[in-house]
Amino acid sequence: MKPTPLYYVWDYNEVDRAFWAEHLEGWLPRCIVDAHMHVAHPAHRREPMTEEMRRQYWVNEVSEPMDAETAERCIRTVFPGREVTCIATGPPSLAFDIEAANDYLRAECARRGWHCLSLLRPQWSGDRVADELARPAVIGVKPYYSLIGHDPATRDAHIEASIFEFLPHHALEVLDERRAWVTLHVPKADRLPHPDNLREVREIRSRYRNIVLVIAHLGRCYTEPHAREALPELADDAGLCFDISAVLNPAVLRLALECIGPGRLLYGTDNPVFYMRGRRQWHGRRYVNRTNHPFHFNADREPPDVEAGYTLFMYEALRALKGACADLGLERAQVEAVLRDNARRLLGSVLSAKEGRRSDD
Ligand SMILES: [Zn+2]
Repeated sequence: MKPTPLYYVWDYNEVDRAFWAEHLEGWLPRCIVDAHMHVAHPAHRREPMTEEMRRQYWVNEVSEPMDAETAERCIRTVFPGREVTCIATGPPSLAFDIEAANDYLRAECARRGWHCLSLLRPQWSGDRVADELARPAVIGVKPYYSLIGHDPATRDAHIEASIFEFLPHHALEVLDERRAWVTLHVPKADRLPHPDNLREVREIRSRYRNIVLVIAHLGRCYTEPHAREALPELADDAGLCFDISAVLNPAVLRLALECIGPGRLLYGTDNPVFYMRGRRQWHGRRYVNRTNHPFHFNADREPPDVEAGYTLFMYEALRALKGACADLGLERAQVEAVLRDNARRLLGSVLSAKEGRRSDD
């Protein structure tokens, strides 16, 4: 069978079909929630991606905007016979028209029965935040340090910011009052273990108890040392959730399941980036992405026969999760909690608060 075009330079091929049949078909439940996915229309890009930016950070090289129609088609391809609902967000970059990206996302999610997290400008007033939360399909916000201010030369001008610089208290007050969802991509080169991050996450949890707070990508703990330093620190807060999107490391997933538990972890893909083919390797506190496309970051290629066996990163992430669940002897209900039920439960709480508010008006 011919490869099916997926997105950007990636196809869905025989290796993926065989991988699905061997590892995923019998394991994934019929309904799944992807709690971390990005949708962006190319027309909303205000500035082109520069060569300098491409060389700077691997994600810049692999993340072309994926519109909603493409997103839906890709999901049907990679999850054959499954019902997948999404919690989507726009492109977290001021190289895009953020207002237009949010408008587009809301309309496309509403049409598909998906939900969305609007990109939050820290400059928005409390009223502006409240107005955004009242709109159809919106369940909360996605703050991001790159939305503090634009620097066309780098994504990381504000990486060392305090969380409260891009998720300010006046926005948190409204989010708390509305019982809204916040997926938080933590700042700092040192990731979640940075003491400021741990302290500020605890502060949000203690001052704004009604927010559904989901720490994205396990706090960007993609390596075992980062996860060991951060996850136990936040393990005792039973109301704090994490999404496991972009985490391919079996040891990290196992630690998260042991330490945070399957009742507080949410499956997510972070697509479209993880339609990339290849595999990830870890060396201490660093990781290397191996892929079969001649990107700048992919200078040190693996032999052709190894590359020919690559499948999608998102499939590797699912295999890693499956392995971690098996190692720990998780029950089926616990596996399904991560892949669907936790997200559904949290969605239910946000939607019923939103519904209650509408009937009060
Ligand atoms: Zn993301």
